[in-house]
Amino acid sequence: MQKISLAIHGGAGTILKEDMTPELEKGYLKGLEDALAAGYAVLEEGGTSANAVKAALVILEDNMLFNAGRGSVFTKKGVQEMDAAIMDGKDLAAGAVAGVRNVRNPIELAMEVMRNSNHVFLSGKGANDFAIKQGIKLEPDEFFFSQFRYDQWKQIRDSDNYSLDHTHQQLEELMKDKKFGTVGAVACDCNGHIAAATSTGGMTNKKYGRIGDSPLIGAGTYANDITCAISCTGHGEPFIRSVAAYDVSCLMEYKGMGLQEAMNEVVNIKLPKLEGEGGMIGVDAAGNVALIFNSAGMYRGARSSDGTNYVSIYKDNV
Ligand code: ASP
Repeated sequence: MQKISLAIHGGAGTILKEDMTPELEKGYLKGLEDALAAGYAVLEEGGTSANAVKAALVILEDNMLFNAGRGSVFTKKGVQEMDAAIMDGKDLAAGAVAGVRNVRNPIELAMEVMRNSNHVFLSGKGANDFAIKQGIKLEPDEFFFSQFRYDQWKQIRDSDNYSLDHTHQQLEELMKDKKFGTVGAVACDCNGHIAAATSTGGMTNKKYGRIGDSPLIGAGTYANDITCAISCTGHGEPFIRSVAAYDVSCLMEYKGMGLQEAMNEVVNIKLPKLEGEGGMIGVDAAGNVALIFNSAGMYRGARSSDGTNYVSIYKDNV
């Protein structure tokens, strides 16, 4: 019998238990559980994997704790510019947006690009115009304001630094207990079709219209029924350079690797050579899931009709 499965992430990075308060930890776990429940409900009702990943991401985008949609980080100019992508493994349909503003759920806009445009990737003002034309929900700037992201940005806005919302260098101290992240989901539905979706506010203090791996088909997001559906999180530049999500698919298609083995090769062997910190979640058309990261933690969760059901944050659990 076809296994249905959903896996989600809420970002990977230097996420350490000692930096977390019990309340914050609870908040993250609850956010992940809510997203799993929403996405899995779609699969249980016989819905498509594309609708399931979208449903999970809408919940995470609406949750202030995650760096996507409402909780997006501030750019150098003090605004939010969001990126998102979705891909359907059934027919290789894909939709993506980059640098959009005031869109409540960028993943809905990406879905709209996939389903109701002749294009795959829209950016900036054009993407916003398309959102208005399609009746996608917009919100004022205040809706996206969060004090901790503002404080996080204030500390570096006068510098040339930009920061992964998770980790790093001189920002490590500053970022403690504010470990955050891009969100993603992968799913396998009752017809054995798979899909992937990723949504992000990108990196704090980013400028020049910087775009990461998340909305790039093949880098941060990819799905193909014959191999896998993958959503990545981490320092976007190395993920782009290694075409990380598609590389997993290639290792499966051309080298005959299994999902777990292929993901492990990319996350733990190839990406570290480019100092690529982060992780990814994956599913194949048999409903097998894998969640792999080379950082200290990754907000994550999985649920499947084989009884798998968990949410987790640090390296040592599940
Ligand atoms: N990969 C995302 C980016 O580089 C960031 C993240 O995963 O948190 O934009």
